Amino acid sequence: MTFKTLTTEFSVCGQLTEDDLARAAAAGFTTIICNRPDGEEAGQPDASAIAAAAAQHGLGFAHIPVTTGNIADADVARMGDVLADANGPVLAYCRSGTRAAMLWALASAGSRPAADILGAASAAGYDLAGLRARLSVQRSAPKHSARCFDIVVVGGGSGGIAAAASLLKRRPSLSVAIIDPALEHFYQPGWTLVGAGVFRSEETRRPMASVIPDRATWINRAVTGFAPEANEVQLEDGSTVSYGVLIAAPGIVLDFEAIPGLSKTLGRNGVTCNYRFDTAPYTYELARRLRGGRALFTQPAMPIKCAGAPQKAMYLSCDIWREAGTLADTEVEFHLAGAALFGVADYVPALMEYVQRYGIGLNFGSTLVAVDGPRGIATFTRNDADGQTVRYEREFDMLHAVPPQRAPEFVRRSPLADASGFIEVDPATLRHARYANVFALGDAINTTNAKTAAATRKQAPIVAVNALAVLEGREPAPLYDGYGSCPLTVERGKIVLAEFGYGGKLAPTFPKWVLDGTRPTRKAWLLKAAMLPPIYWHGMLKGREWLVSPEM
Ligand code: FAD
Repeated sequence: MTFKTLTTEFSVCGQLTEDDLARAAAAGFTTIICNRPDGEEAGQPDASAIAAAAAQHGLGFAHIPVTTGNIADADVARMGDVLADANGPVLAYCRSGTRAAMLWALASAGSRPAADILGAASAAGYDLAGLRARLSVQRSAPKHSARCFDIVVVGGGSGGIAAAASLLKRRPSLSVAIIDPALEHFYQPGWTLVGAGVFRSEETRRPMASVIPDRATWINRAVTGFAPEANEVQLEDGSTVSYGVLIAAPGIVLDFEAIPGLSKTLGRNGVTCNYRFDTAPYTYELARRLRGGRALFTQPAMPIKCAGAPQKAMYLSCDIWREAGTLADTEVEFHLAGAALFGVADYVPALMEYVQRYGIGLNFGSTLVAVDGPRGIATFTRNDADGQTVRYEREFDMLHAVPPQRAPEFVRRSPLADASGFIEVDPATLRHARYANVFALGDAINTTNAKTAAATRKQAPIVAVNALAVLEGREPAPLYDGYGSCPLTVERGKIVLAEFGYGGKLAPTFPKWVLDGTRPTRKAWLLKAAMLPPIYWHGMLKGREWLVSPEM
């Protein structure tokens, strides 16, 4: 495929194949734009396939599909945004390159004379003279800031993508920007199963470009600050983006550095953690390799995301040792900073049966404070009978360490945070406590629900409905009951499906005779292992609100 240069920063070409992307990266392009709808002709690779291949080469990707004769101002604005945000030269493609050149021409009308634009296109072999009239209209039209959107979503994780998709499902004409510096999106709930060898890690990762809703603009930058009085967010490059309504979903930060020695030994020396894409496979490797010895599992103080995940890793490892016949030779200890095995008492009896079956030693009030990987020593603190903090060491052959977690730094020091550092929202409407046009969801908010993707699945449509209400001058509705869910994988093939709302009130999706969440069941395993991943990728991230539509 020949790349045709219009300017040093912009080239076009016909349909790219996955193989062309290595050449595009080597030629110095940083961003690929597809201006072609999927399925125009037989054998055409889908934009998502090209997006995936682009990510493998470290290239950004945007899909702005148009048909000739039907290029809307919104398409031109999106093209302008992507060109403005690109880190370097951009390569855009369609069937022949003409539509890509047209969009570039229209997006450039505000900054260059029409004669220059038409000349550059002509030199590359594209006669765009038919656009002359529109170029001059576009040039003289009052300019909206390319950086102003009806809705700005900060964070393209579970909550951000689901909320944007739900908004655009309801109102496709909205201008929506999603700001996220990450090139990849992860299905984190899958990491527990990666750690037990049930999923491959690759099944939990997709290019960010492939999950951004079609009509949303992805700004591939980090947000560094919020200026809610000015309706603006600040980006790492010093620029700002303004909004009608802000939706913040930047997640929670894993503070590995808070435990001296942990970072440098993670993924080696028998030290692992399912909370990271790169180390979850090591949990399975260790569990398979260990044939007796001492295995430690730790859980920090709350709040953490998926509070059940530290013990899920433990039960599944024990199940592997049970099957291998080495469980009796393995001393398993669970060190929890808190005082209870699980925050909602109804689920504890079923979990205790597994603690006893696997012979696990429970150590409440025991906090991991240092790790010496090469020597295989973990240091903990706990309070003695006099209330004095004592340090003690445990040797280990395997350590599954979960670090403390906190709100992202740029959130903590922003006006959106409360004293805990998390975003202060009304627990029922998810609207900010002080800024009427700001909503937030997911792990970064200060509510007491379980920080889970299941919670964001419920929150996203509520935030969408309430954000639209505020855009229309109406009051948001108190729709969120604190629902969250934690599928506790007690063995390979069985799950205790904890589902509860604010105050630990049980909130089962199914009647007890269909699925009793307080007992281990195969049905709940089937739900987690076979049904929830497609529901996530094809339902939640696409704005399909199965069982969670607030209008229901
Ligand atoms: P995330 O999905 O983490 O997304 C945050 C996004 O914000 C990221 O894309 C990030 O790049 C972006 N971001 C960060 N900083 C910035 C910035 N400065 N500017 C712009 N963007 C930024 N949940 C369940 O429901 N069930 C489970 O079984 C389950 N198991 C889990 C097991 C493990 C091991 C882990 C780690 C999590 C598990 N979860 C589970 C929890 C679930 O994955 C999270 O609660 C969910 O992903 C939270 O969504 P979020 O959108 O708030 O944050």
